[in-house]
This record gives sequence, C-alpha cells and structure tokens, in this order.
Amino acid sequence: MNILAFESSCDETAAAVVRDGRTVLSDAIASQADMHALYGGVVPEIASRKHVEAIAGLADAALAEAGLRKADVDAVAVTYGPGLIGALLVGVNFAKSVAYGLGVPLIPVHHVRGHISANYIAHPELEPPFVCLCVSGGTTLIVDVRDYTEMAVLGATRDDAAGECFDKVARVLGIGYPGGAPMDRLSRTGDAGRYAFPRVQVHDAPLDMSFSGLKTAAINLIHNARQKEEALDLPSLAASFSAAVSDMLVPRVMEAARRCGRRKVAVAGGVAANSHIRADLEAACAAAGCRLYLPPLSLCGDNGAMIGCQAYYEYLAGHTADMALNAYANRDIAKG
Ligand code: ATP
Ligand code: MG
Ligand code: FE
Repeated sequence: MNILAFESSCDETAAAVVRDGRTVLSDAIASQADMHALYGGVVPEIASRKHVEAIAGLADAALAEAGLRKADVDAVAVTYGPGLIGALLVGVNFAKSVAYGLGVPLIPVHHVRGHISANYIAHPELEPPFVCLCVSGGTTLIVDVRDYTEMAVLGATRDDAAGECFDKVARVLGIGYPGGAPMDRLSRTGDAGRYAFPRVQVHDAPLDMSFSGLKTAAINLIHNARQKEEALDLPSLAASFSAAVSDMLVPRVMEAARRCGRRKVAVAGGVAANSHIRADLEAACAAAGCRLYLPPLSLCGDNGAMIGCQAYYEYLAGHTADMALNAYANRDIAKG
C-alpha cells in the first residue's frame, strides 16, 4: 500500500511516500527555519503562507522521487494536530483535495504519534508494546505505546516543553534558532558540573516534568553575568543546562518503563537528537536491562515519512476521515 503523506504542523513542509508502513520511497522536505530565524521564533502567519507556496511542489517531488504516478497512490495521509492551526489547515486542505481527486482514503495522523513512528522506520524489528519519551518543540510526554494506535500518557510537562526551553535559552545567548542543535554543539567542550541548575520534582506526580524553573534559572544566570560584566563559560553553561534537562527526562522514562513492565524504551521528536539525552538513555537502559531505540538524527525532527508510517497503522485500525476532517491545535495522543 503506497501512502502519500503530508506534514505542515509547524515550520517544515514535508511530503513523503511510504509503502506498507515501513518502507520509505521518498521523503521531501522544505524547512522555513531560516525565515523564522530572522524573528527568533516561528511566526505563524508566515509559516502558513510558506506551506501554501511549498506543498504542491513537494507532492510532485515526493511522487517523482518514489518513481510513482498519481494512480499508484493508494491513500493520502496528513498531520491534523497538534500544531499551529493555520499551518495544519494548509496540509489538511491540500490532502483532502488530493484524496478527493484521486478517489482514495484520507488518513488523519496525530503529529506526535508520527514522531513515535520514526522509530519503526529506523528499526524494522521494533513492535509495540514499549515506552516512548516524546520530546520536541511543543511536546514533552512519556507515553506507553501499548499498540500501534493504542497509547496512554504516563507523564507530561506541567509548563514548557523541553525543546522550547532549549530554544529560549539559546535565544538569550544569541546562538541561533532553533536553539537545540547549536546548544548541543556548544556543550561538547563544556563541563556539565560547572553550573548548578535546579532538579525539581512535581509534587505527588513523579512522572510529570517541569522546565520553567530551569529555563528561568539559566536566563537569570546569563542576565546577572552580563550586568556584572562577568565572563561566562558558555560551553559549560550549555553542558550544565543540557544535563539538567536530561536529568528531568531520563529517570522518569526509566521509572515509567519499570512501572509498565516494559523492556523496550524509545525516544521521539526533535530533542531526541540531543547528545546528552541519548548518552544518558544508553547508560540507563544498559543498567536496567532495557533495549533502547533511537531514531537517526534525520528522523528526529519533523518529516513526512513518519506520518506515512503511522498512517499505515491508523488505516489498518480503520481510522480514516471524510471531507469534514478538521485540524486541531491541541489533540490528545491517546485519542489519536
Ligand atoms: P512538536 O513536535 O511538539 O509539535 P515541533 O514539531 O516544533 O514540536 P520538532 O521539529 O519535532 O518540534 O523538534 C524541534 C525542536 O527540537 C526544537 O525545539 C529544537 O531546538 C529541538 N532540537 C533539535 N535538535 C536538538 C538537539 N540536538 N538538542 C536539543 N534540542 C534539539
Ligand atoms: Mg521545526
Ligand atoms: Fe514535531
């Protein structure tokens, strides 16, 4: 089954063709990050307009790269939430028109379920159940993936997402947007023990997370040093901050796996590219006797292939939509 999949939830427009869930025939992507970097963050109206400009060309490119004609498309899939509403609507309306025109089923896909699916592409042997840490620009969730389309949220952030936190601190440092990857690079030569950042617990909710105090602590440290004209050890600041983020995430996902009796742990989303988090997860999984599944860096951020992969399993579960499909800025991953 050839699924033509679209992704437009944030600042990447993507179209991909995925065969039977696991075989990626093409994966075309147009990032708008350079445009939004001028403003230090995603400008929703610009994002929508750029999606409109890019999406038809990407659909053609995805088909051409896959060596397929329109008649070879068996279904159309699209991210319908969560994300920026105007950006999502571009993908949803385009996908609707393609599905209608070709007379094939339309499959709505939850964006974060898509991120989880990136692991199926990278690891052909991976099957549910497993516990997945979903960490990206707008999401920080610990999910029990009971089956391909059956999920339960075990823990969530009470405030900022981990990626947002990296982006805000990087913005104050002036090292680029989006800030996660530059922070990671900067941290490489740093000493993670140099700066003391808080490790907080959410009262009575041991699997929930909170990043706003950590973000504020980092920003205050930078502002104070600037006011006093004290030099900061930037690589060590980035390393200490990354270690604090990792300490918020890694013990909790391991505890979640223990509680659910899962021996498989996966990671998903843009922040899954972080070297500190990857290394800490490797060590924690080795110590706990769990198998760790990491997506390659190319599949951590937003892409169309992950949507085409998850769409296959949604289709098998009977989750298709008609022309009344809407987009949702917020969407519960358990509901799909
Ligand atoms: P969501 O998936 O929640 O809707 P999104 O789609 O905007 O949000 P992604 O594109 O999946 O998020 O991920 C982007 C985020 O990943 C950004 O916050 C970015 O800074 C972060 N990121 C990318 N690489 C790294 C890295 N090496 N370390 C930490 N964060 C990173
Ligand atoms: Mg993005
Ligand atoms: Fe994403």
